Amino acid sequence: MFKALVLDQVEGKTTAEIKQLDEEVLPAGEVLIDVGYSSLNYKDGLAITGKGPIISKFPAIPGIDLVGKVISSEDPRFAPGTQVVVTGWGVGERHWGGMAARARMKADWLVPLPDGMSPQTAMAIGTAGLTAMLCVLALEEAGVKPEQGPILVTGASGGVGSVAVNLLAHRGFEVVAGTGRSEEEPYLRKLGAHSIRSRDEMAAASRPLEKQRWAGVVDTVGGTVLARALAETIYGGAVAACGLAGSADLPTTVMPFILRNVRLQGVDSVSCPPDLRTQAWNRLQQELDTSLLSDLVQEIALEQVPEYAERIVQGKVRGRTLVRIA
Ligand code: NDP
Repeated sequence: MFKALVLDQVEGKTTAEIKQLDEEVLPAGEVLIDVGYSSLNYKDGLAITGKGPIISKFPAIPGIDLVGKVISSEDPRFAPGTQVVVTGWGVGERHWGGMAARARMKADWLVPLPDGMSPQTAMAIGTAGLTAMLCVLALEEAGVKPEQGPILVTGASGGVGSVAVNLLAHRGFEVVAGTGRSEEEPYLRKLGAHSIRSRDEMAAASRPLEKQRWAGVVDTVGGTVLARALAETIYGGAVAACGLAGSADLPTTVMPFILRNVRLQGVDSVSCPPDLRTQAWNRLQQELDTSLLSDLVQEIALEQVPEYAERIVQGKVRGRTLVRIA
């Protein structure tokens, strides 16, 4: 038997309860994992509170991230005892996820824990950190360079935003942290932000083209914030859009694209190809300033997840939240 956070539906409402389950009920997969940690992402918050259509079939175990040790494997790439990380691939959505002491996964979804990285650091990174790095890689691929001007990171106090601020500052960019929480300014400056832009300034209705400010943007918010960011991006600049914490709408015009050569690059971490995934994890291993993890990360028990799920969908969680399973 093992402990799991189980989501179910009662009269159309999602319930979340800790239960003891038998290994036999786990879904099919080649590798059985003893889960050490999961993490709480915005998507997990939507799944656990039922505020977003994330789970395709109930009952279900949430948790889009996990790190743990292989117990048994039908795939020779993963010997028992190997530490592995899983993010994305529909885990915690279509396939039972990481918020349980046991998980059964497809071998192709596993990434070996990078050498020298602790399980806690892997989950401090998790889907949010991986996505932040994919955004940085997207801006690099678009040719954005520190000497061209500042980078705006929206939703900067959140999981993706916090890691993006730190990674971009580490690469020598002047980072402007866009946030609705002015009280988080000291935290954001410690992560490497050069200055702060308020949510009100970011979300104000914009003309098709505004004053050129940003060489690049990492956007986790969507809606009018993304629309204004596009209108404020410099000629030839790039915007990496990965989130919808504010809105799934995009009330923009074609002007930034056809008059300023602005590139809007979508970023997805769920089905990200293995080569790019491995490149991103290796870059995270080299570049994330782990001395800042104690500021960036808080650790909670599995029992606290429902409470924190409510908080993350209300935009009240700062940085990354590790979920201790063992
Ligand atoms: P968090 O909840 O940790 O961070 C989101 C941040 O967005 C909040 O901290 C807040 O930042 C800001 N925010 C929240 N609500 C609003 C609002 N109504 N208007 C404007 N800003 C708001 O979430 P994550 O960092 O885990 O995820 C961020 C987004 O990225 C989510 O939409 C998530 O679904 C998406 N995502 C996408 C992935 C992909 O593969 N494309 C992978 C991972 C995440 P502040 O308080 O600083 O303003």
